[in-house]
Amino acid sequence: MRKRYLAMMLSRLEGFSSPKPELEQYRTPGDVAAEMLWLAGSIGDIQGKIVADLGAGTGVLAIGACVMGAGRVYAVEIDESALALAEENAGALGLGDCIEFLNMDVSGFSEAVDTVVMNPPFGSQSPHADRPFLLKAFEVAEVVYSIHLAKPEVRRFIEAFVRDFGFSITHRVTLPFELPAQFFFHRKSVERILVDVYRFERLTVDGTPV
Ligand code: SAH
Repeated sequence: MRKRYLAMMLSRLEGFSSPKPELEQYRTPGDVAAEMLWLAGSIGDIQGKIVADLGAGTGVLAIGACVMGAGRVYAVEIDESALALAEENAGALGLGDCIEFLNMDVSGFSEAVDTVVMNPPFGSQSPHADRPFLLKAFEVAEVVYSIHLAKPEVRRFIEAFVRDFGFSITHRVTLPFELPAQFFFHRKSVERILVDVYRFERLTVDGTPV
């Protein structure tokens, strides 16, 4: 499988039918999802691993993780209608058995996993909406991939937050990300922003990566 093929496959999945701004429902574009999953795959964080996608939406990252060979994926999503679409998307690709769909708030998720892959709310509707996602990820996983706005104040927040919870940033890749404009009430049909894709890893007691 090539990265471009994965990107194309993920970009063809069904998206949110009526996205809810208060939940910051925007899907990860196929190319960004593929970039993140490819990095994770190349480091050995996906193949045969137990993975969780927190705020799975229509399932782009969960499905991508299965395609990349994850052993099992939990797709955790508060919005029932989005999760139904995720199930349809996975079913259409014959990947339904790889994913356990959990309709719940991320804070209620309690399975220990190897790797979290997530695109949490960016916090553009309510500041730090990504906080409960990061907290949960740091509680259940050793390795976390996450997408955040590439802005100086967000970077400062992430750097401090990650350190406070005993994780380190091992990778940060900045990528363009197309957002549907309905969230920003602009006339353009899409808004191009920059995001940072991070890899976080739990530190051992002496402060070195595991
Ligand atoms: N991961 C998907 C969707 C990203 S949008 C993708 O990459 O395409 C963020 C998702 O988080 C939305 O689907 C939203 O409904 C969900 N969400 C927001 N708050 C949540 C919460 N507290 N618990 C679970 N899911 C939540």
